Amino acid sequence: MSGVMARPAVARRGSVYEDVRRQFDRAADVMGLDPEVRKILETTTNEIVVHFPVKLDGGHIESFTGYRVQHNNVLGPYKGGLRFHPAVDLDEVRALASWMTWKTALAGIPFGGAKGGIQIDPSKYSKREMEHITRRFTFALAGNIGPEYDIPAPDVNTNPQIMAWILDTYLQMMPAQQRQSCTHVVTGKPVEAGGSVGREKATGQGVAYCVEAWAEDHELEMDGATIAVQGFGNVGSWAARLLAAQGARLVAVQDVTGAVAAPGGIDPEALAAWAQGRGVAGFPGARPTDPETFLETPCDVLIPAALEKQITRETAGALRCRLVAEGANGPTDPDGDEILRDRGIAVIPDILCNAGGVIVSYFEWLQNKRGEFWDLEEVDRKLRRRMLGAYQKVSDTARARGVDWRTAAYVVALQRLETVYKERGIFP
Ligand code: NAD
Repeated sequence: MSGVMARPAVARRGSVYEDVRRQFDRAADVMGLDPEVRKILETTTNEIVVHFPVKLDGGHIESFTGYRVQHNNVLGPYKGGLRFHPAVDLDEVRALASWMTWKTALAGIPFGGAKGGIQIDPSKYSKREMEHITRRFTFALAGNIGPEYDIPAPDVNTNPQIMAWILDTYLQMMPAQQRQSCTHVVTGKPVEAGGSVGREKATGQGVAYCVEAWAEDHELEMDGATIAVQGFGNVGSWAARLLAAQGARLVAVQDVTGAVAAPGGIDPEALAAWAQGRGVAGFPGARPTDPETFLETPCDVLIPAALEKQITRETAGALRCRLVAEGANGPTDPDGDEILRDRGIAVIPDILCNAGGVIVSYFEWLQNKRGEFWDLEEVDRKLRRRMLGAYQKVSDTARARGVDWRTAAYVVALQRLETVYKERGIFP
């Protein structure tokens, strides 16, 4: 049996959790967050690390490392995605779990924050192996997740199929009489397996609602506005498709396979069909371009929708956009933020901009609990109302306090958490 998988060589510049702590400290100082509440929120609650063996197609066994970090649950059950990526480690999962706490508080939904994942490059495994790895991970985590306790969802390199395997594995471990009442143990499921219509596009849809609202407030005509999108998976591809449907012109796209550009506009539907299973490189409807300088693409709106730490001290000075709409979690680090502020480039921060996914996950959870099935019109209408409500709160707070939008978003979230802690008190 091989030992724990060696850490793959993935370049990561500094700690992502440290970025969250810096963002949190800035907002906590601005609002004068209660020092006792501050102590609670600046740490995670539970950190689960599991090592589990899986028999692969060749008959040999490999051992994998998986994580689930539960940051806070004062507002409701822990909630957050699962990421399958070589760079997943405790630092990253802590950061992603903290962002979930702020995001659910800002969105006003009754969930706390968590995140998890496996340190793995899924492209190296067959579909059958991925199923076994997912099921074995679920088995290892089973005592720490649950429909009223901690509810996973998709993130980078996980999708409705993986959620269906998690659901099925979890249900096999339940007494038969309880299975039907536990389908809300995971969200982002295929619609046939209890998922919600509109969940697949929900994060991109939320990004689109935010960009449209910002454009209206800043006299940017969506018809003809130019957008560049980094990451063309679930979030990036849906944001591009939905904004293009409003008249925006997609001028450049980057993913892990490379970057493509077409100043006259890329057809996002054709690109999405091309990229399925192979990535954007080689797309015949655009020319290849240098991934190294992708962030410098001239555009009205840049949508980072891949990974953390893209807009940094090294890159922020070269951006040529009016607005950064953060589809990804943590694409801008605190140094990058400072440069964007100085340069007058607006940012719709991740915890606001990409909240659409967890909002529709909440709708899915509610539908499962109540045995209901909402149609797309109802899901989109409710999502839009919640997204725009949060957007308005952040916009108003930024103006009232004279702070940037990220700090304002944190202030709105932290005020909600502070109020609950003050009302409930701290045990014992
Ligand atoms: P995904 O796996 O569907 O897509 C990820 C995309 O990023 C792919 O196109 C991939 O090629 C690209 N990518 C990966 N590494 C890259 C690199 N080094 N350079 C350029 N591109 C790279 O994942 P997703 O669900 O779309 O998630 C993307 C981001 O959005 C993540 O930060 C995630 O946490 C965040 N997010 C996702 C959701 C959701 O509902 N899926 C919700 C909120 C936030």
